[in-house]
Amino acid sequence: MTAALRTKQLRKSFGALQVAKDINFSLDQGARHALIGPNGAGKSTFVNLLSGTLKPTGGKVYIGDVDVTNASPASRVNRGLARTFQINSLFNQMTVTENVALAVSARLKSDGGLWRNPVRQPELQREVDRLLDMVDLTSVATKRISEISYGQRRLVEIALALALKPSVLLLDEPAAGLPKSSSERLLELLVRLPRETAILIIDHDMDIVFGFADTVTVMFQGGILVEGKSGEIKSNALVREVYLGNARHA
Ligand code: ADP
Ligand code: MG
Repeated sequence: MTAALRTKQLRKSFGALQVAKDINFSLDQGARHALIGPNGAGKSTFVNLLSGTLKPTGGKVYIGDVDVTNASPASRVNRGLARTFQINSLFNQMTVTENVALAVSARLKSDGGLWRNPVRQPELQREVDRLLDMVDLTSVATKRISEISYGQRRLVEIALALALKPSVLLLDEPAAGLPKSSSERLLELLVRLPRETAILIIDHDMDIVFGFADTVTVMFQGGILVEGKSGEIKSNALVREVYLGNARHA
């Protein structure tokens, strides 16, 4: 089976600081995978290299069979790679529905300009409803972004990424800044997301990491420290020492 996403000897330096050290990584189709490690391990840098917002110093990135190492972030999106963006990518004065509809119509543009075609508006509405249901936001569909909570905005971002029907979704700290009750709800809906999308999640919330992921990669000082099934990683003494030791002070 071709991996949904793969890197070969991926490397990144900022001056003398090596932040990604020859990373060979592979994400299976439909995988539920977590990337963990202490602050500064290089997790966000790695995700930025995958999504193309950073250029590597060396190595390769593949989406499926396609070498996208030199492809722009936008063309990687077209190849099926989505990630969540910062909150300021949402249109604050528009409603939740309108924000999601924009993303859906952007995907469907090549499909005949759905947004401009009144005949197909019901199809657009159905897709928006489906996405809002997926992230549990149906009850705030008609509210403006400026009127909903921080946690709900994070969920809108996930809906926008899912609107692209990606083969790979990168979630960099989706639970950051959420109260425990919201992160528990986030976990519930993450585990229900369709398996057509492989998901790579970075988070410091170990309940989310081990509740969600089947497999885990631990990064440390720009390299992969260990990889394996969630259960093995969870009980790995070295991982507990390195990771949880740091998390106590985070
Ligand atoms: P993590 O997400 O695991 O906390 P990061 O990928 O954000 O780690 O950072 C890894 C290391 O790279 C850190 O030491 C950080 O200070 C450094 N770093 C990240 N981005 C830059 C940059 N643009 N310029 C210089 N150093 C950077
Ligand atoms: Mg980070």
